[in-house]
This record gives sequence, C-alpha cells and structure tokens, in this order.
Amino acid sequence: MGVSERYAVELGDVCVKYGSKTVLRGVNHVFHAGSSTAILGQNGAGKTTILRTIAGVVHQYSGWVKVFGLEAGTVGAKRLIGYLPERPGVYERLTAMQNMLFHAELNGLDTGTALSRSKALLEAFGLAEVAHDRVHTFSKGMKQRLALARTLLADPPLLLLDEPTSGLDPDGANLTVSLLREKLEQGSTLIVSTHNPYFARRVSRDALIVADGSIKSRGELESLVFERKVRIRLLRGVDIGLISRLVGDGSTHLVSQGGSGVVSEFEVAVGDGEEIAQTVENMVRAGLRVVGVEPVESLPKQEEGDHT
Ligand code: ADP
Repeated sequence: MGVSERYAVELGDVCVKYGSKTVLRGVNHVFHAGSSTAILGQNGAGKTTILRTIAGVVHQYSGWVKVFGLEAGTVGAKRLIGYLPERPGVYERLTAMQNMLFHAELNGLDTGTALSRSKALLEAFGLAEVAHDRVHTFSKGMKQRLALARTLLADPPLLLLDEPTSGLDPDGANLTVSLLREKLEQGSTLIVSTHNPYFARRVSRDALIVADGSIKSRGELESLVFERKVRIRLLRGVDIGLISRLVGDGSTHLVSQGGSGVVSEFEVAVGDGEEIAQTVENMVRAGLRVVGVEPVESLPKQEEGDHT
C-alpha cells in the first residue's frame, strides 16, 4: 500500500500551466505522514491547483508528486486519498444514503462495511433523519455535510479537503472539526485549503502560505498566521519610550495611558513563551514593577477574505 512511508506527500519543483498561464511556479514541499497542514492564501493563489495535483486530477505538470511514495494519479495513489473538491458534485436525484453506497461501491467496499460506515457517517454529520431523502431537497450546507461524509467513507490515510467549511453553519463546522481530529488521532494525514484561519487553527498545526503560484512561507500555523500578544501591567506608570526600548522591535501597542506618554498597562506582540519570559525579564531588570502578564486573544496577522 505504501502507507508505511514517512512522507504522505512529496512535491518536487511542481509547475502547472493552464494554456499559457503559469499557475504553480516550482512548488517544493513534503507533508509528513500524520501531519495536518492548512494551505492559506488569496483567491487565485494556487491552493486548489496544489490539491488537484496531489489528487491526481491535473495531468499536465512538470516536477514530481508522490503520495506515500507512489506517483500521483496512479490507481494505487488515488486509493489512498479522500478528496473533497472545491465544488463537490453530489447526485441530486439520489438519496443521501444512495450517494454514500454508490461511492462505497466505486471504492470497492463490501456491502456490509459500506452500509455500516455510511450509516455511522450520516449520523455523525447530522444527516441520519434525511438519509433517505433525495439530495435535491437539501440546503447547500447539508450537501456539503454529505460530501464530507462521502470523503471519509473509505477511511483513506490522506485527506485533501478544499474549503471544507464552505456553506457550513457553525454546527456543521464543529462536527467537521471533531471528525477530522478523530481521523488525525488515528494517524491520517490532512491537507486542507481554507480561507478561514480560525477553522485552520482548530484542525492544523502546520501552515503553508501560497501566493502567485509559490509557497511564500511555511511553518507552525499559530506563529505564521496569528499574532500573539500579552497585556502587561505595571505597579507604577513608566515612560512609553522606555517600554519600546525594552521590547526592542517597536511592537508595543498602547492599551491605556496614565498621563502624557506614561503607561502602566500595554500590549506586546510576542512569538513564543520564551519571548514572553524574556520580555518580562528585561522589564524586571530595568527596575519595572511587573504585576500582571495576561494573554490577549490572538488574531490573524492578515485578513484572508471572508471567514465564513
Ligand atoms: P485558489 O484555490 O488559491 O483560489 P486556484 O488554484 O483555483 O487558486 O487557481 C490558481 C490560478 O489558476 C487562478 O488564476 C485561476 O484563475 C487559474 N485557473 C485555475 N483553474 C484553471 C483552468 N482550468 N483553466 C485556466 N486557468 C485556471
């Protein structure tokens, strides 16, 4: 099967052109088996194309793409993937259950397994009551739930999800998060393209930021995508200029001010816990009386469009 491989996906210098338009410009990355990565970026950046290339539905590319060591697009590689496309087609004239069973058959599941998994997944996505209703009566969110259930049906070791929360209400998003976390605990690998940094942080530890067909940055999602801040309180107010010098990089942000240029409470942007400790140490060494250090809810560094 190839699932004992260390890397779930390897992208080597991948270039994709549509006609004369270059859409991916030499993308290199390895996704470790068992990892969870969010691909973020503006519309048109190339997120969908990366997922489509891994899924084996883009045939014209240069470079190499491997899925658990197998060439992308081969039957063996496709068998290891659960792919939720940007616009997942569900069969409108079939019922939800029929959609599931049809997909199960395409994936070679035996009848017993197909039935039990379909039931369990429809239940898990809150569709048990409408399992025997035709899909054309479903809302957009219900169709998305069905498409997600279908993607998980064959229990593939690699999940490629393109905007999975599209059209989902908060309940649907919560169900999706808990099912994906369950899959990750069982050792699946997840690659998810999303505009929603809040959803991304709930399911992914790693992030790739894509722009204009290239990976612009990669690393831990929390520090790459979110700005972490702490609020510091002092016993006595001090000059804001002194605070700025102690923090060093000018990232202090004033919250409240006692008198002109004198502060006793302010926010500081920080990277990790080590930086928080260092900042506090610098202040104590400079004779400041620190009486409070509280985390402030972190926000995305840049808005990525709508967060629905
Ligand atoms: P994203 O998912 O980040 O929004 P895409 O991968 O869908 O970006 O698209 C990247 C670029 O490729 C866009 O400029 C888009 O217009 C173009 N593109 C995508 N699919 C096609 C296609 N089938 N034919 C021509 N251009 C395409």
